[in-house]
Amino acid sequence: MNIKISNLSFKYDKKATKTVLNSINLEIKPGSVNVLLGLNGCGKTTLIKLLAGLEKPFEGTIEYDGGNLQTIRIRERAKIFAYVPQQANVTNDIPVRQYLSYGTTNTLAFYEHPGKEEMERVEATAERLNISHLLDKNLGEISGGELQIVLIACSLIQNTEILLLDEPTSALDMKNQNLVLSILKEVAKQGKTIILSSHNPNYALYLDSNVVLIHDGVIRDEGSAKELIKAEKLKPIYGDHMCASNELGYEEISFK
Ligand code: ADP
Repeated sequence: MNIKISNLSFKYDKKATKTVLNSINLEIKPGSVNVLLGLNGCGKTTLIKLLAGLEKPFEGTIEYDGGNLQTIRIRERAKIFAYVPQQANVTNDIPVRQYLSYGTTNTLAFYEHPGKEEMERVEATAERLNISHLLDKNLGEISGGELQIVLIACSLIQNTEILLLDEPTSALDMKNQNLVLSILKEVAKQGKTIILSSHNPNYALYLDSNVVLIHDGVIRDEGSAKELIKAEKLKPIYGDHMCASNELGYEEISFK
């Protein structure tokens, strides 16, 4: 389903004169991959939180399938959106397996507990993300990077139409970045909509995504990764040190 953001403005402090996001207009097409790029503090996380329904627009609207996103009830929303925050507030003494099982509850009635089928889904996803060895550890006993993978696994277990991922690889080593990105590529091929923020413009190229370049709370540019991930386009935001790898005197190491 389509997401349409119209004239969206937002501020955390209603009395503040400056808005954090200003007159955002954006259409997210079903099945598209969208990478939000921009400097620290430009508003990427805020936009993702608004899409997740965790914040309300100050002005403007976010429509999902033609209706106001705000009016979708939480249980219904959990069937449509999965959200991976940058920092998770998790209870340390819950085993990873149990935490991941919460990802299955969006398809269960409120009185039902995850059963055999749901726990099999948990195990299969853990295997896919190479975290089976963590299943019986408590969340408080795993590393920051491992926790990030657990959060990503939980979002995949939710099996929603739309994935909202806020810098999902910020704590991951190169091997796990590659694993997560390749899984996202597979997920995109299955027709899911992905919206992720990142500090790595190359992710957009890797995912062959749409790019939304945010600067100081406004959309500076939008288009395909092939069009926008070019040194000349990124320099005004990231600075003159940006360059294409063919300008470097050494081979850049990347993913294939
Ligand atoms: P990004 O994700 O692009 O780094 P954010 O969306 O987190 O940026 O932040 C955008 C702006 O909103 C920043 O100026 C930041 O300081 C401010 N901000 C973020 N979260 C809060 C909050 N909870 N309360 C007040 N201001 C916030």
